[in-house]
This record gives sequence, structure tokens and C-alpha cells, in this order.
Amino acid sequence: MLHIWPDLVVRPSSTEEIAEIVKIANEYRVPIVPRGGGTGLQAEALARRGGIILDLTRMDKILDISEENLSVTVEAGVTFGKLDKALRNKGLWFPIYPKSSLSATIAGNVAVNGAGPGSALYGCIGEQILGLKVVLPTGEVITTGSMANPNSPRHYLRYAFGPDITGLFIGSLGAFGIITEVDLKIYKRPEEFKHVTYGFEEAKGAMEFLRQLLLNNISVLHACIYEGDILTFFIDLLGEEYGIPKVEWPPYVVSLTIGCRKDIVEHDYELMLGIF
Ligand SMILES: Cc1cc2nc3c(=O)[nH]c(=O)nc-3n(C[C@H](O)[C@H](O)[C@H](O)COP(=O)(O)OP(=O)(O)OC[C@H]3O[C@@H](n4cnc5c(N)ncnc54)[C@H](O)[C@@H]3O)c2cc1C
Repeated sequence: MLHIWPDLVVRPSSTEEIAEIVKIANEYRVPIVPRGGGTGLQAEALARRGGIILDLTRMDKILDISEENLSVTVEAGVTFGKLDKALRNKGLWFPIYPKSSLSATIAGNVAVNGAGPGSALYGCIGEQILGLKVVLPTGEVITTGSMANPNSPRHYLRYAFGPDITGLFIGSLGAFGIITEVDLKIYKRPEEFKHVTYGFEEAKGAMEFLRQLLLNNISVLHACIYEGDILTFFIDLLGEEYGIPKVEWPPYVVSLTIGCRKDIVEHDYELMLGIF
């Protein structure tokens, strides 16, 4: 039977507390599983060997938003929802967020190298990281990225012109250390978003359409290809509850979001109609 229960749940509030916990766990050979929002789709944050679940949701402070440097530093347990609210107030934006944003934490997403709306243009979250603070399995605390250089005045690059130590923790599922702080790039919030949907008879046509959008530098933030049958399944399941009418879906559906400066969105939308 699948073992999921920990012997202990610990809810630390600082990097220093985590370092102490890790040292004690090492001494007594107790396994630790870091846990953010617990929304991972492969149920990664389970205590399969018992031991400690290290719940990071108390570490939910936004430590710094730099409008000058366009960077933000957050504690591990900040959710995407909380980050977006703080940035929105300043006309700023973090472009990649999972569809589980109200519960998923930033560090949890780094640990899975997540993608989501925004990824068509900005890649996975790993591409937007400027540095991390991590507690290693020994209990030692390290800083990665540009701020690892004591002469660096501000965050500028995750590689910091050295080996990509940051990359070791991106997508690591917590295997190499516990991420306690994340520095991210941020952007000016787009003025306008446009959501559009196109139907295709064949997958090949849908793929070629997306390729042409790329070749024409259309400001696509998010692109998904759905099989019509899947959409029919979900609308049969939930459509009535959410007031979505039944439609005859084409075999393949491309759903797109374009977002940018208002005039560029209008221009790109016209261009997109021409390509379709
Ligand atoms: C409805 C729904 C929609 C989703 N949509 C998307 C989507 O669009 N894109 C996407 O990428 N994912 C998506 N997901 C999957 C999931 O929400 C994301 O991967 C999310 O970022 C995981 O974050 P979490 O805080 O919940 O991490 P958890 O599930 O708590 O943990 C995930 C993994 O990261 C490790 N971990 C957590 N915190 C840390 C830490 N501080 N240091 C080191 N390791 C850590 C855990 O041990 C575990 O291995 C979706 C899930 C749901 C339920």
C-alpha cells in the first residue's frame, strides 16, 4: 500500500529554522519532504518513507519588489495569487503562473520547473529566475545567482557568469535542497489581453498555424491545442454548472491569449486573422 503519512509536520517560519531542522534530521537519519501548496499533479509532496513534511506555507512574505531593477524576492511559500496581487498594485507582472495559482507556491513551482499561461513567450519558470536561497541537505545555507557575488549591486542573471548552480535546483523536486527564497524577473503589466479560439480539422493544421504565429512574431502569451472530444467531455461534465452552452466542437481547437501594449495587440490580432 502507498505510504503517505509523515511522522511529523513542521511549519518553519525562517531559513535559519529550516537549517536547524535539517541538521537535526540528518543526525537522526529522518527523511524530509518539503511541501508548498501540495498541488503537484504527481503527488510529489508525500512522505513515502515517513519522517518529516516540511510545510513552507508560513514563509509567505514578499521581501522586495524593485521597480528600478524589475525584480522581486519572495519567501518560498508565497502563492502566485499573492504575488500577482502585490505586483498588480504597481502596474507590474510576473508572466508565468500555473492554473493552480491561488494555492501553488513559487518555490514549489520552481521545484517542478512549471509552465502555464505566459510560457509561450516567457518559457518555464526557470527562465525567469535570478537567484535562490537554499538550505542544502547538510543544513548549510547558500545563495545562488548574481547575489552570490558579494560585489554584485543587484540581481541581474541566474548564472552570474559562473556555473549554473541555480539550475541544479530548478525542477529538482526538492531532492538537492530546500528552496527558502526566490528572486524573479518581473515586467510591466500588459495593457491588453485578447483571448481567441480557432478550430481545425487536423492536428497538423493547428500545429502549422502556431508555427506561423511564431514565425511572424505575434505576441502570443499562451497557446493550447485541445481535441474537440475533450472539450465536449468537460462541457458535458461542468457546462451546466458554469452556464456554458453546448457547442459542436471542431476536431482540434487552438486557444490563444495575446497580450502586450494595446496598439500591438490590435495590430497582432489583425495579422493573426490574416494567417488563419
Ligand atoms: C488544477 C491544477 C492546475 C494546475 N496547472 C498547472 C499549470 O498550469 N502549470 C504547472 O506547471 N503546474 C500546474 N499544476 C501543478 C501544480 O499546481 C504546480 O506544479 C505547482 O507549482 C506546484 O506547487 P506547490 O506549491 O503546490 O508544490 P507541491 O505540490 O507542494 O510540491 C511539488 C514538488 O516540489 C517540492 N517542493 C515544494 N516546495 C519546495 C521548496 N520550497 N524547496 C524544494 N522543493 C520544494 C515538493 O517536495 C514536491 O516534490 C496544476 C495543478 C492543479 C491541481
